[in-house]
Amino acid sequence: MRHRLLPINLRGLIFFVVVLSVLATLANGLIVAYRIQRDALIHSALEANNAYAAKMASSIGDFLTAAQSRLKYSADVLATRWDDPAALRAEALRLQAQDADFNAIVIVDANGKVLQTSPETLRIVGATLRPEGLESALAQQRPLISAAYLSMTGNLVVAISQPIFSVTGQFIGSIGGSVYLLKQSALHSVISNHFHREGTLALVVDGNRRLLYHPNYKRIGQGMDRNAAVDAALQGHSGSMQVSSPTGVSMLTGYAPVPAANWAVVVELPAERALSTLAQLLREVFQGMIPAGIIGFGLVFAAAALIARPLRQLSSIAGQLSTPETTTRLQRVHAWYLEASSIRQAMLTGVQLLQQKLGRLAREAQSDPLTGLANRRAMTDVLEVLEQAEQPYSLLAMDIDHFKRVNDTHGHDAGDSALQFISDILKRNSRTGDLACRYGGEEFTLVLPNTALEVAIAIAERIRENIAASEIPGIGKLTLSVGVACRSNEAPTADAVMRAADECLYRAKSQGRNRVVS
Ligand code: GH3
Ligand code: MG
Ligand code: MG
Repeated sequence: MRHRLLPINLRGLIFFVVVLSVLATLANGLIVAYRIQRDALIHSALEANNAYAAKMASSIGDFLTAAQSRLKYSADVLATRWDDPAALRAEALRLQAQDADFNAIVIVDANGKVLQTSPETLRIVGATLRPEGLESALAQQRPLISAAYLSMTGNLVVAISQPIFSVTGQFIGSIGGSVYLLKQSALHSVISNHFHREGTLALVVDGNRRLLYHPNYKRIGQGMDRNAAVDAALQGHSGSMQVSSPTGVSMLTGYAPVPAANWAVVVELPAERALSTLAQLLREVFQGMIPAGIIGFGLVFAAAALIARPLRQLSSIAGQLSTPETTTRLQRVHAWYLEASSIRQAMLTGVQLLQQKLGRLAREAQSDPLTGLANRRAMTDVLEVLEQAEQPYSLLAMDIDHFKRVNDTHGHDAGDSALQFISDILKRNSRTGDLACRYGGEEFTLVLPNTALEVAIAIAERIRENIAASEIPGIGKLTLSVGVACRSNEAPTADAVMRAADECLYRAKSQGRNRVVS
């Protein structure tokens, strides 16, 4: 099976894997931190907005009940002096002068006819009141806080009223104070006095969902869009929720009711705004990690290089196992951990086996199996080396005389053992550095490096005599013819020397055999 090779080395691979896992861990950490922090921020913003709304609602409630109790006091005063217009006027003026909370004071009779106002510049005395405001107060004959409405003088107001009962308990009229919503009023200061978080929007709506307070004054008096938080507060609940504005912006909303007036206070903060610190925080965390990250990646890179180094060296050696210096190169590799060391050990063993095998193959290729002498190829190689080194040498070419007869008379096997016998004589007569070869069949050569022709002739003669004197077991006597040549100016190449030696051998044969010719 063929495996696909990735275009990446071990060092790159380690670096890639470590960096990837570090980045994944980091990203995971950042995401978790982001989520936890985000949830905490949202939770605390919701809590804060709820607390803010509740605080505002209770301040508004206090303001309204205080105003009502002052009106109640006036109502009790007026009950005893109802028929005295001067007393009505005095009370209305006193109330307004003493009580900066009211923009205007109106006293009406049981039919809604205006008896007295303060300030008197309102010029509505004698008129009958509009239905939205004190009219309902008249009908219900109980303390009331109105929704927002447009007063007879064209101001957007809310009215706070108390019924007036005569000493006999009969309903005789009503006293009301109006608070302007658009002009500078006591209600505004109650609301806008509160701590204001950047980006937070505080709203007050009445039971008809009209805005009683909005930081943008133009919106006051306008209806508010449907909103789950407003619905909940108008139903008397206090709490917080995340709601989507009509424009799709997610708002963290706290809400609280004003039970005295059936109003609702809503405090909103865009979620994005609440989380703005979070993005900044994460940016800072990230920037803070950059220097450490660079150092860390540098260390990882160095470690990856260190781990990969022995394997890289081993892999480059693996490409050329057959060269002789492989063993030393392997021994020089610093395999500092278990796997690299085992691989190096296995390679060393493998290389030794391989070189042994190559050596054996080389020896087998260069030697003749029957006699153990070098073969013709080995001789050619040696002659080539001598020729290239320009070394002088002599060459003996030998051929056994009438060897065909040996085979014919005693058989081929006997012939073979005769060849071995003669080979042993050749071996015995050659010095170290000489090369005895079985050139082919019953022909032999002897290469004698750094040997003068005369010395070579003497050696040839000795070999010839040695063989001629020997009794070969089972065969008897054999003789040898020898041609001797040496490297000279006339025969500078190996081929020329071979040819010269062959010619001498041929002459030895033709001159009657069992002789040396040079
Ligand atoms: P001469 O050289 O004196 O002229 O006569 P010769 O009979 O030796 O003739 P030649 O050299 O031409 O013949 C070689 C013979 O050697 C032929 C063959 O029968 C024999 N021979 C060659 N190789 C082997 C071998 O490996 N084993 C045996 N037993 N005989 C071989
Ligand atoms: Mg022959
Ligand atoms: Mg022969």
